[in-house]
Amino acid sequence: MNYRHAYHAGNFADCIKHAILLVLLKALARKPAGFCVLDTHAGCGQYDLSSEEAQKTGEWKTGIGLLEGSEDPALQEYLAAVRDLGLYPGSPAFTRHVLRPQDELIACELHPEDVRPLRRLFRDDPQVSIHHRNGYEALRALLPPKHLKRGLVLIDPPFEKLDDFQQCAQAVSLIRNRFRAGIVAVWYPIKHRTPVRAFYNALTDAGIRDIIACEFLLRPALDPSRLNGCGMLVVNAPYGFENEARTVLEAMKTGLATEDREDMQVHIERLAEE
Ligand code: SAM
Repeated sequence: MNYRHAYHAGNFADCIKHAILLVLLKALARKPAGFCVLDTHAGCGQYDLSSEEAQKTGEWKTGIGLLEGSEDPALQEYLAAVRDLGLYPGSPAFTRHVLRPQDELIACELHPEDVRPLRRLFRDDPQVSIHHRNGYEALRALLPPKHLKRGLVLIDPPFEKLDDFQQCAQAVSLIRNRFRAGIVAVWYPIKHRTPVRAFYNALTDAGIRDIIACEFLLRPALDPSRLNGCGMLVVNAPYGFENEARTVLEAMKTGLATEDREDMQVHIERLAEE
């Protein structure tokens, strides 16, 4: 396990992922019944952008560093969460920010050094449980949630291995079988089109319904050695999600603009009907 999220926290891809996550969480919180979030690849929980790791890559400077001052109304909820939470929040911290007393968060993290700060962050929190385990394997053990009938599963692997797309596709099928009412959100890198298309095809070939792919491209996905963009694939999205996601991502496009990002594109595509 070489991947450490501390080097990448707050980069453009993190901003996209967290802003979309927030749209989904806010939709869940609109109904009074409690919900459960399962975060399969949780990371450390929060990140100090002045740390040696973050400073070494400086990736956050062309991510949250560009967005901080934005006054676009579509980004205010996300930016307010970042401000309220202090250090740059990871996915579990964004989720905790939205939880009400009737909701809960289950977070899995496999790296021994990353699970430690995650546990520390939620030490005395009865609504959050942390598992030091493989997030894919945890799906069988932890779904459906014991007490709550609604919720969201976030899958955000490091994509270090060639079969990560395949594992994600299998995970989505498993979640759909075990937790029908749940929303599924998968973050994925867009380097070149071929593996992304194969991922979409694997899902539709498996008969998964109601799939929306939200893509954010910094540049055309031609050079497979570069992170040219990223996506969030959402299955069983809440009502109105497509429009909200589009508004947020278009605002991101404006906020994340730099001189060498002239070809940014937002692409939202329904891959399968309900
Ligand atoms: N979701 C986090 C966020 O948005 O703040 C970032 C997660 S980072 C992209 C991926 C994390 O997954 C890393 O912390 C890595 O250690 C962890 N990881 C890698 N393989 C895993 C596995 N099989 N199960 C659980 N965690 C894993």
